[in-house]
Amino acid sequence: MTTLADALVSWHSKHGRHDLPWQHDRTPWRVWVSEIMLQQTQVATVIPYYERFMRRFPDVCALADAPLDEVLHLWSGLGYYARARNLHRAAQRVRDDFGGVFPTDFAAVESLPGIGRSTAGAILALSREARFPILDGNVKRVMARRFGITGSPGERAVEQRLWALAEEHTPHVAVGAYTQAIMDLGATVCVRTRPLCALCPLREECHAYRTHRQHLIPAPRARSRTARRVREVVMLIAQREDGAVLLERRPPQGIWGGLWCLPEFASESAARGYAAAELRAEIEARPLAQVPHAFTHFDLVITPLLAQCREARAGAGTRDADQLLWYDMRAPARVGLPAPIQQILASLT
Ligand code: SF4
Repeated sequence: MTTLADALVSWHSKHGRHDLPWQHDRTPWRVWVSEIMLQQTQVATVIPYYERFMRRFPDVCALADAPLDEVLHLWSGLGYYARARNLHRAAQRVRDDFGGVFPTDFAAVESLPGIGRSTAGAILALSREARFPILDGNVKRVMARRFGITGSPGERAVEQRLWALAEEHTPHVAVGAYTQAIMDLGATVCVRTRPLCALCPLREECHAYRTHRQHLIPAPRARSRTARRVREVVMLIAQREDGAVLLERRPPQGIWGGLWCLPEFASESAARGYAAAELRAEIEARPLAQVPHAFTHFDLVITPLLAQCREARAGAGTRDADQLLWYDMRAPARVGLPAPIQQILASLT
């Protein structure tokens, strides 16, 4: 009888993706970076970021030795910046605790910041042919449909059943090919809405297909009854006569942690007060067009206020001067900028 792994590996050899940048020269380092970038992010978006990142950081020690600003600079626009901060910390752990060599021991891999059970399994399976199951969001969906596991994968009991199935069906040979195949099937065929069952090698045995319940398995997440939260902030674009714009580094934790941002205020009057008192800047009468930005759990609406500074003086009093930077858009510093801030700055030129 054809096993699930045989069917997937055979399908992948003919129909899977084989030319993605991280599929060549599969070192733990290259696979690790790709697995982190691909979390919650589409392949097409990741490719240019991945290539730039690998050019700048060809090995784990190059990343470990780099300043965090440089790391966030190369991650700017990719979102979920905790991934980049954790990757940087983890690279330093590999450099300091493992002599710069990625560990082979599963528990050691899983102990690194930003690496959970599934990511640890994927790195070791893809780069070392070590037999460990994976269970990312795509694989959960494939397993749940194929074996008719109802309930939400977010529930502990459901997740445990899925892990048990993932463990049982991970093959003892060609584990790297199987891992790549099941991830690809979930990403390209067994997609969340309207899976392409006609192209699927698991169709004959698939519980969801045979019972026409693809849309019910896995159980959709319960929708929150509360309205999506909207947060409104005012951001000051303080611009000097030479064109440089004042940026402030955000705290290491929280949204856009460690990235550089326009100074943020709760109200227009607070921004005006700061501009007048600390920058001796004049704010233009009318705010610029609002910039919306969607986070996972809320919407941010930014009202940018443009202020012309007569003097290059900033940071006294309420703001920490070490966390301020006059950003020259003609010779930009290599720091991390959130996408909406890049958008606002681009609109000035
Ligand atoms: S037959 Fe359809 S639902 Fe079942 S695993 Fe394949 S793509 Fe998913």
